[in-house]
Amino acid sequence: MPRGGHSFAGCPRGLADLVLHGLAHRCARRLASGEGKIVHMTTAASSKKSVKSAPQGKAAAPTKGAPLPGPQDFLQHPIFDELGFPKDPENLYRQTVGSMLQAADLMKLPHHLQIILAQPKNEIMVNFPVRMDDGEFRLFKGYRVQHNNALGPYKGGLRFHHDVHLDDVKSLAFLMTMKCSLVGVPYGGGKGGIKVDPYKHSKSEMERIVRRFTAAIAHQIGADYDIPAPDVGSNAQHMAWIADTYSFLSEVGGRQPEAVVTGKPVEYGGSLGREKATGQGVVDTLVELLPEAGIDIKGCKFSVLGFGNVGSWTGKILQDRGAKMVTVMDHTGGIRNDGGIDANALAEHVRKTGGVAGFKNATRIDKDEFYKTKVDVFVPAALEQMIKEPEAKILDCKIVAEGANAPTTPAGERVLEARGIEVLPAILCNAGGVTVSYFEWVQNRTFQQWELDRVDEMLNKHMVKAAAKVRDARRKYKCNLRTAAYIGALERLAKAYEVRGLFP
Ligand code: NAD
Repeated sequence: MPRGGHSFAGCPRGLADLVLHGLAHRCARRLASGEGKIVHMTTAASSKKSVKSAPQGKAAAPTKGAPLPGPQDFLQHPIFDELGFPKDPENLYRQTVGSMLQAADLMKLPHHLQIILAQPKNEIMVNFPVRMDDGEFRLFKGYRVQHNNALGPYKGGLRFHHDVHLDDVKSLAFLMTMKCSLVGVPYGGGKGGIKVDPYKHSKSEMERIVRRFTAAIAHQIGADYDIPAPDVGSNAQHMAWIADTYSFLSEVGGRQPEAVVTGKPVEYGGSLGREKATGQGVVDTLVELLPEAGIDIKGCKFSVLGFGNVGSWTGKILQDRGAKMVTVMDHTGGIRNDGGIDANALAEHVRKTGGVAGFKNATRIDKDEFYKTKVDVFVPAALEQMIKEPEAKILDCKIVAEGANAPTTPAGERVLEARGIEVLPAILCNAGGVTVSYFEWVQNRTFQQWELDRVDEMLNKHMVKAAAKVRDARRKYKCNLRTAAYIGALERLAKAYEVRGLFP
């Protein structure tokens, strides 16, 4: 296992009984602590060289747990002040960590583990020049945040988006630690990204941007240390360029250099089933939890927000199981067809045109109609903080299945909960991607290529087990599914810290 390196001797035990929640606006995320630093290592043990390699009642019924916290409660948690968190309640990192602290308080997680998990170990920022097709140079900013490696190497995607900020990446890295723990893979959590709009660059420009970024962070990643993967805006081709670039850096490449990233094309070390894995995991979670809500997948109606990798695969696989997709919205607009939108045809349309707008067999709708359309299951599969209070008030569904990371703000969730809409939390629902990434990594390291059936079967085992863990925690702590999922994740992390101890 990689060695951790936390030092916090003498920290006072924090007040642990406040329940956390928050309001949200995406724009506030840029109030990031530390943005602007080039490289900021939060622990002494951050150098790659210093790290050794690691080896069920009615689910959908509104949860009757602790009373709903007031909007101010989450502002008061002492750990935010203790660690100097951004004050803004709309800050995404404050919100995501706040949800975890709520669970940590409920299960009485020791204070020292709460503060360790409330901050990433390493926050890396790089600025690097790239020559554009017109011969001019442009400077790009890239990130890699390594949140925690108590359970294994850091693991998490790379986001290529013009509006990515340090606190986005910190939040996503934090969620990866929780997700990997919950779903039972031997990884910690990390995330990265480049502030770039991949759709505004030629293929050759993107290749140079990705390769130069890889070189800039090459000493901070590795198959035993930190393993990136695709996220919003990045894809299998980008992963292939990263693996290829890394393999040429002889001082770091080592053996099996392609294992430095997952989500690669199948022709270059990728796993069968990885592309659809996150959507498959969303559906596996629904198969586990929908019956308890009295919903039959066959014939159930659903909406999808965001029709990229996660949204389109969730749509296609749900459709294969007899469910009907009635509305879809992405950055190009919304569409509706009460008779059902064919997910395969829509995916093909998006591939050709870049978005759902203009799809022939559906009517164009606005944002309000999209959210108001009555369905059984609503799948947010776009970006963070998209279900805020206004959307939560008009959503007409029984279940929100979080395909995206952190799509529901705490304020939005409070409204959904009050309205009896159950949220299947992202760290459970979208954990299929990282699970199959783990299978890809195992295949790379053992020179194997698994059949698709084996990948799907193994993925299902992980998802079923994780869902059971969440169900058990909900029953024991009488909380909602998000808090239960965090408890499931924290229990495994706490056990690991207990046996490892804390150095020195
Ligand atoms: P993607 O880039 O393939 O798709 C993103 C989708 O979001 C696109 O359809 C885009 O049109 C839509 N979108 C962007 N801005 C929007 C807006 N303002 N309104 C409506 N739609 C908008 O990304 P992805 O890989 O499918 O990831 C989606 C979410 O799932 C992210 O939160 C990501 O972190 C999460 N996730 C992805 C994976 C994975 O394996 N790809 C795994 C776990 C979680």
